[in-house]
Amino acid sequence: MSKPYIVAIDGPAGAGKSTLAKQLAKALDIAYIDTGAMYRACALYAIESGINPKIDSPKLRELLDTAEIDFRPVGDEQHIFLNDVDVSREIREPHISTGASDISALPFVRDLLVTMQRNMAKGKSVLMDGRDIGTNVFPHADVKIYLTADVKERANRRYLELQAKGDSSTYETVLEEMISRDEQDKNRAYAPLKQAEDAKLIDTTKLSLEESFEALYQYTREVLQ
Ligand code: C5P
Repeated sequence: MSKPYIVAIDGPAGAGKSTLAKQLAKALDIAYIDTGAMYRACALYAIESGINPKIDSPKLRELLDTAEIDFRPVGDEQHIFLNDVDVSREIREPHISTGASDISALPFVRDLLVTMQRNMAKGKSVLMDGRDIGTNVFPHADVKIYLTADVKERANRRYLELQAKGDSSTYETVLEEMISRDEQDKNRAYAPLKQAEDAKLIDTTKLSLEESFEALYQYTREVLQ
């Protein structure tokens, strides 16, 4: 496609979104924006500042008004910076996952980040992944994919990922956290997680990473042709 286009990938935690989205953006040679990282950075900022990320308060609004969030290339990876500090590692900690889900239910936080996300995509092709990209951020995205997998499989993948990083969370804790985060993301009043009517459903429960990538790549190429 010669004009700029948008690829939107949504779905619950642990379906392989970030890994596959990164790979697909690279294969298409377009920018990748991980919107979950932006909600995580806001949660980290609130928690580190001793502010409850669950409650819309003047203190939280004031804090986030001063937050500078941007993505910068580090080596061949994209890192997220919060007020000029690379927070890419800290935002992956399990308590920040919960904090991100809490803070993302607040309408003013979503409005703030959605505006940033739309600005980041101005005039260029981007692949964005998250929970509301195809439904809310870019309802007219050129390609929409809803990526999911059975919750036990998603929890197992996340558990193995955390283990590899030396985290001592048990499988049961990871599963519980995932179920409650899915519930909260699907049931919030403002821009909940749901499949857009015109999104292609890809279930990766029984697919390897390579097979999942192939499914995403083939579908995207088909639509963009
Ligand atoms: O994708 P990731 O697990 O990093 O997202 C962390 C949390 O941020 C999600 O559980 C969800 O609550 C929130 N989020 C969102 N909308 C997005 C991306 C993430 O509400 N577009």
